Amino acid sequence: MTEQKAARQSVAEARADGLHMINVSHAFGTHQVVKGVSVFVEPGELVCLLGPSGCGKTTLLRLAAGLEDLQVGRITIGDEVVADGQGKPQLPPEKRNVGLMFQDFALFPHLTVFENIVFGLNDRDTARRDWARETLSTMGLAEYADAFPHVLSGGQQQRVALLRALAPAPRVLLLDEPFSGLDVNRRAQIRQDTFQILTDLGIATLMVTHDPEEAMFMADRILVMQDGRIVQSGQPVDIYFHPETAFVAELFGPVNRLECRIEGDALISPLGRHPAPEGVAAGVPMELLIRPEALNLAPLPTGGTPGDACLLTVLSARSLGRSTHLALRLDDGAGGTVLNARMPGVFQPEIGTQVTARVAPENLLVFPVDGA
Ligand code: ATP
Repeated sequence: MTEQKAARQSVAEARADGLHMINVSHAFGTHQVVKGVSVFVEPGELVCLLGPSGCGKTTLLRLAAGLEDLQVGRITIGDEVVADGQGKPQLPPEKRNVGLMFQDFALFPHLTVFENIVFGLNDRDTARRDWARETLSTMGLAEYADAFPHVLSGGQQQRVALLRALAPAPRVLLLDEPFSGLDVNRRAQIRQDTFQILTDLGIATLMVTHDPEEAMFMADRILVMQDGRIVQSGQPVDIYFHPETAFVAELFGPVNRLECRIEGDALISPLGRHPAPEGVAAGVPMELLIRPEALNLAPLPTGGTPGDACLLTVLSARSLGRSTHLALRLDDGAGGTVLNARMPGVFQPEIGTQVTARVAPENLLVFPVDGA
């Protein structure tokens, strides 16, 4: 169990409601968009659905919230079955006690910040109103309690929307791309604040995103979706370092693709000879994927040979401030494959000169060629 998950679970003991979606399928007309998916979010856990646009993430979230009628499968919150795809009546959204926050988290413009937050609360619910005031203050927004939303920045509005979703003490929280409307500079801070609030509350949270960095930052577990199915699930670092398919590897950004083959226990590629990764069979057409940041470049040693490294010719080197992006030609005698590399800090060899490249064995991602 990760440290963050353990911390959440201890807070969550009193709030023992998890979300279970079991074998859920959903079609719009003849278009099957969710295909036999199971999602389990335990109390105190934050699970991210990560996948490209159109893979069915939002539909799953809407099914959990009750905004779409469940066709196939079963959904439980805590011990309660809230939807059963057997034609039985479903618990309507307002009775599920689920907190919802969508990408366009529009606040009510004619209500004050505080009125927005307590909108879903009963007037007599003083405990939750007190919670709302305290949390507004913890977030540094106390002075805006009586202001109208239009005077708030995008980030402040996002926080208010989060409090509105949390104010009724929901059993489960559903977040759909909650940070996508924010500019890059604000996003990191707000992501951190949101993470802290959810950690403190220990609420079971299912979050949808197509941003891998966001998923890695927020999630205890990531479920990768492709075309209506979950194709890999695990802790963020496992998914990043051990993608099971080229599709999952590429979700985290563009990769270099190279032909390769297995000979005995060796992996032969234009980058040279490396130990073959475990579980890779000989005789199957394979390809090698290398992330730009996995290419470890160094200036050519004077008078020396590159040893186990391969030689690349620098085509361009553009400084991006924190890192340098390089395009390099592989001198492999096969037409010169172009590779992209990303080195930390400033690394600007002369254009047209040669550099050496090494790749750590754990960064060699080998997969069967599509359709093989
Ligand atoms: P995005 O990141 O773009 O929101 P997503 O992974 O959340 O994508 P969904 O919004 O779940 O994907 O949509 C899955 C598929 O279902 C898409 O092809 C979409 O066009 C289709 N779809 C979604 N809602 C409806 C609807 N109400 N009627 C018909 N088709 C729909």
